[in-house]
Amino acid sequence: MIMKDLLRPYYLNINKIIYKGSGYYCNICNKSYRKFLPAGNDKRQNAKCPGCGSFERHRLLMYFLKEKTNFFNSNLNVLDVSPNKTMHNLFNQMNNIKYTSVDLMMSYVTQKVDLTQLPFDNETFDCIFCYHVLEHIQDDIKAISELYRVLKRNGWAIIQSPFDKSLNKTLQSEKIMTSEERKEVYGQEDHVRIYGKDFISRIESVGFDVKEDDYIHTFSKDDIIKFGLDKEEIINFCIKS
Ligand SMILES: [Zn+2]
Repeated sequence: MIMKDLLRPYYLNINKIIYKGSGYYCNICNKSYRKFLPAGNDKRQNAKCPGCGSFERHRLLMYFLKEKTNFFNSNLNVLDVSPNKTMHNLFNQMNNIKYTSVDLMMSYVTQKVDLTQLPFDNETFDCIFCYHVLEHIQDDIKAISELYRVLKRNGWAIIQSPFDKSLNKTLQSEKIMTSEERKEVYGQEDHVRIYGKDFISRIESVGFDVKEDDYIHTFSKDDIIKFGLDKEEIINFCIKS
């Protein structure tokens, strides 16, 4: 893992040359490519930027932040949970942002902490990102309530997790314990549940108001492909009012 981290910049720089071209554009590294790469266990197509390693959700977030939030023009205290390294580096160098990133394991975050026990005062942050984290955490409701606690009144959070829209109720069982069983039932060996349609009500249960924003529908079909976006991604914009 450490070797992979060390080699990552070289690998991405080589990719920038190999995949240089037109037809596909990444708004994170601001470059065009001849394709995006497949990613994930299911090898979903048109997903990963060859030059910066960003995924569909990162690129949609960037468009969303620019068009629909004050992220680039207000002074904000930002908490980013388990960020992708590219996003971490990008946000960390912004002058208007006081940036804190947290994770239990990642080497590059600013603080190694447990999301269910955040070492921050109540109402510390203006804005929080929590992308693809909660499905790894046993007590996800405690984690969400910690996010709510450290967010300022009128602050906002974006909380995303993979979910199965064919499930009405989140699937989690103490009988599913081994890596093999988790991979089989939850889709990934380090996931502890698969969220269903009740994901939003779990976020709301700690006090958040959640707006399910279908911002993705403002993009044309062609642009969704060109920008490497997920045509079904809904952004969970969570407000502490
Ligand atoms: Zn990129």
